[in-house]
Formats: sequence, structure tokens, C-alpha cells
Amino acid sequence: MDYREKLKDKKRIVFKIGSSSLTHPETGKLNLTKMEILVREITDLCNQGKEIVVVSSGAIGVGSAALGLPGKPERVEQKQACAAIGQARLMMIYQKLFAEYNQTAGQILMTKNTMVNLLNRRNAQNTFEELLRLGVIPIVNENDTISTYEIKFGDNDTLSAIVAALIGADLLVLLSDIDGLFTDDPRENPQAKFIDLVENLDDHYMQMAKESTGSLVGTGGMATKLEAARISTGAGADMVIANGKDFRVIHKIIEGKPEGTLFLANPKEEFYLIDYIDQLVNH
Ligand code: GLU
Repeated sequence: MDYREKLKDKKRIVFKIGSSSLTHPETGKLNLTKMEILVREITDLCNQGKEIVVVSSGAIGVGSAALGLPGKPERVEQKQACAAIGQARLMMIYQKLFAEYNQTAGQILMTKNTMVNLLNRRNAQNTFEELLRLGVIPIVNENDTISTYEIKFGDNDTLSAIVAALIGADLLVLLSDIDGLFTDDPRENPQAKFIDLVENLDDHYMQMAKESTGSLVGTGGMATKLEAARISTGAGADMVIANGKDFRVIHKIIEGKPEGTLFLANPKEEFYLIDYIDQLVNH
């Protein structure tokens, strides 16, 4: 069976864009050329009648670059201040670029509490449904300006998988600075082999996760990406990890081209998103 071909028929797709795919490594400022391509690719999917959600990182990095801070902010208050500046700036640019194509975008900022509290969760779900019904692209991020350790998801790999599960997406695409899953870290081990398809995400694969992608800007590593795969495939959505260095990869993935690693959905009856989130809250 050609699993890649089936990606053409996906209707509701969540894209997670990592900070390293949105910014210039030298300055941490937004890479506008790349963002333009991203926005065009995504709007074109909407024009094909698909429902698209974007989980975009970059708030803290963009805020820190705007303030001219040296390196990554470390103190919680500093990160929150950077996010307050960066998130607004990020949205301003997204709105402007989407407007060029007559596409409307909206913002949804979440914390763990949005998911844990039943009322909040239902509200969030309704907002997503309504925005998608209206043909709007929700742009999601963690609410970094107010979220502290207790209420943080911590990384957007996890957040994007939770969003995919919450809205019943049929595909999640993680775009980051790695090509996909390898048998070992390819930067350390030249013998590492690329894995094109994961049909059943068992412990053997989970072992392959390493703690870092080598990225200086993002938060997630391969471990969080495989955790995201566990959530999304368990909830019934296929997942692709691919390199976001050229966002034209987006239409290639949806055309069924062999880009990145594809994890097949494996909906589990015992998968309850809320149990999963309880685990997150309690650790
Ligand atoms: N929410 C963080 C930000 O926008 C990014 C988290 C991540 O990189 O996974 O800066």
C-alpha cells in the first residue's frame, strides 16, 4: 500500500514550525523570505479546501533579537518579557503576509490549563472549530508571557501533537532542522541510517531518540518529536517529521513525495488525551 499517496487526501492538517526554521541563525531575527514561502504554501493548501492549523514557535527568540539581548534569555521573567514582544511581532508579520493572499489568520495561545480544565478545553475546541469553519488559519503558540513551569507544555512538538489530537486532525507535520528519524544521531555517527516509514512506533524506535537536535534556538529534540508521534499516531493522525530549511517541502509532502519520516496513525482505543495530559501535569 502506498502510504505516501494517501497524504494527498488529508483534510485537517497541523503544521509545527520550529524557531530555527523561521529565523536567521546569525541574528535570531525573522527570515522573511522563508516566511513568505511558508505563508504561500499554507494558503495554497487552504485554497485546495484543506483546513490548516499552524503551531509556530519563535516568540521568545524574536523578542530577544528585537531587544538585542546577547544569547538566549535564561530567567523566567526575561523569557516572558521577550515572548510579550516577540509573539506580537510574529503575529504582525504573519497577518501581513497572509493578507497578501487574502487569507485570514487568527491567534490562539494556550497553556496546560487550557487542556486540563474541561471548560477551557471545550472552549478551545469550539474556537478551533469555528475558525476552521470560517476558513481562518489558527496560529497557535504556548502562552509564554504568562506560563511558568507548572502550567507549561514546555515545547511546541508536544503542544502541536496535543492540538492535533484535540481537533481530530488527520495529519501533523513537524518542520524542524532535521531531515527526519535516523537509527542514530547522523551528526555523530556517519553510519546512521535514515528511516522513511515507521509503521508501528514501539520502544525500539523510542530508544533512538536523542536529547538534542543541535539547534540553539528551539526547545524540542528528537525525544520530544517521538513523544509527539506517540500522541498524534495514538490519537489517529499520521505524522511527518521533515526539514524546514525549504518550506516548499510542504507541497511535496502533501503530494505524497518521499520527504522526511512518515509515522502511520495507529489509533488506540485506550488512548485518552486527557490521561496523557494528566501525566504531563503531574510530573
Ligand atoms: N513557545 C516557544 C516560543 O515561541 C517555543 C517552544 C519551542 O521551541 O518548542 O519561543
